[in-house]
Amino acid sequence: MVSKTAGQAVARVKVLSGGSWIDSTTDRWSEVFNPSTGEVIAQVPLCSSSEVDRVVQTAADALPAWSETPVVERAQIMFRYRELVQANFEELAQIVTREHGKTIAESRASVQRGVEMIEFACGIPSLIMGQCMENIARRVDCETIRHPVGVCAGITPFNFPAMVPLWMYPVAITCGNTFILKPSEKVPLATIRLAELLVEAGLPDGVFNVVHGDKEAVDALLVNPTVKAISFVGSTNIARYIYETGTKNGKRVQSAGGAKNHLIIMPDADLDQSVGALAASAYGCAGERCMAGSVALAVGDVGDKLVDRLCEHASKMRVGATDGDAEVDMGPLIAREHLERVEGYLDIAKGEGATVALDGRKAETTGDGFLLGPSVIDQVKPGMRLHKEEVFGPVLSVVRAKDIDEALSIGKDCEYGNGASIFTRSGWAAREFKRHFNAGMIGINVGVPAPMAWFPFTGWNNSFFGDLHIQGTESIQFYTKQKMTMTRWFESGQDSHHDPVWKTRAGGK
Ligand code: NAD
Repeated sequence: MVSKTAGQAVARVKVLSGGSWIDSTTDRWSEVFNPSTGEVIAQVPLCSSSEVDRVVQTAADALPAWSETPVVERAQIMFRYRELVQANFEELAQIVTREHGKTIAESRASVQRGVEMIEFACGIPSLIMGQCMENIARRVDCETIRHPVGVCAGITPFNFPAMVPLWMYPVAITCGNTFILKPSEKVPLATIRLAELLVEAGLPDGVFNVVHGDKEAVDALLVNPTVKAISFVGSTNIARYIYETGTKNGKRVQSAGGAKNHLIIMPDADLDQSVGALAASAYGCAGERCMAGSVALAVGDVGDKLVDRLCEHASKMRVGATDGDAEVDMGPLIAREHLERVEGYLDIAKGEGATVALDGRKAETTGDGFLLGPSVIDQVKPGMRLHKEEVFGPVLSVVRAKDIDEALSIGKDCEYGNGASIFTRSGWAAREFKRHFNAGMIGINVGVPAPMAWFPFTGWNNSFFGDLHIQGTESIQFYTKQKMTMTRWFESGQDSHHDPVWKTRAGGK
């Protein structure tokens, strides 16, 4: 819900609390931009901790009735929600493009990935079932069942305004929890539309709530004892902070961080296919993806050919505003400061002795937004900032490795561990890579090995803090706690002095 009253230049985003859309009482507001034009399109409240605490209380009030609602009824709401999101699919994709700047094709694909999370949640009645074993000792049965953990919260980044929130709340609420979402203050509008549709699907008041803001709102969620679990996706330093602060406050935390994804190109790779896949990985969504390829590891003598072909391919990409029906291959970055930060890496590269083989600052672009063309940096050496740090923009660094062993050892030293891919025709090389590369999501001739809803998003190293990942059955484990029940019924007249479970083998029959 977004509204504009007389005297306000742009619409103001509301808070969803207990089923009502309310005006924030904060005096701190932030601007939401259309990155294609640089225009302000909305204002978002930076909620105070007391406002957040009130919303947490509405989620707590809704919990008893919701957790008692049969899981099949909870899933039926998700079926309705899936239909509503599908019916409003194009509008959602347009909102994502407007507030984030992705091309409309990229926005549609990201909303589709989100819809699949709702579809996964529809299957939770089959997936949430516990285990049972009869006769674990004579006439004693044992079972486990899964309970919701309680009030949960999600904090999401700017780069996937619809998909990343959908990674979290459909599973959490279908498992019987209530939820508070704090979307990125840079892109709150897709969340607002998704929340309106969830209300329309018939979700009871207070089961799903939305607050907005920055560190103050996040800290309020982290320290509030009513919140039992936190899901976070964002940059590594904040992800670590969320994990440490949340766990110190007794919460279950899954916290996904930044990335530096390596793409290995073996000398036997199909170069035509590989160059297309590398460019799509590095420059798709303007490089603002935690699974974007950021370092090409050119093995053996493939380096020079690869750099030439990458520059040729990337220089033909159409870069521009993504509004309306614009036919472009790459849109703007999220904000002017971010654009300047990414451009700064091109100077850092030169300063470190690398070669800017293609300079995105010189690309022709259409539009007035935060635009930067694709860049290729050659002669990057392990240890340089371009090799170590997450750039989060359309910049691909090329590092040379003499053989696959050297490429694997370069990967071992990486601080991050989200994705890594190999391009090869050799099954042996692919197997070595799959087994030994130091990252949690592996692609073989696939540039962006981001798993779909049914598989966990298995980041390693500083790309993830916690034990149970987002997506797949791990997410159901995260949003539930197990209860074990052991049952024994006495038969009348039988001697019941012995405990059949604890008796020793030597002592009993
Ligand atoms: P960010 O860390 O700046 O912000 C993420 C969230 O944290 C936002 O909601 C923001 O309001 C909040 N936040 C910001 N500063 C905070 C602070 N000091 N204390 C508490 N909360 C704070 O990330 P971003 O720039 O919005 O998103 C880009 C980052 O997200 C990249 O590093 C990218 O790799 C990462 N990302 C990771 C994954 C993954 O699955 N590993 C997926 C998508 C994005």
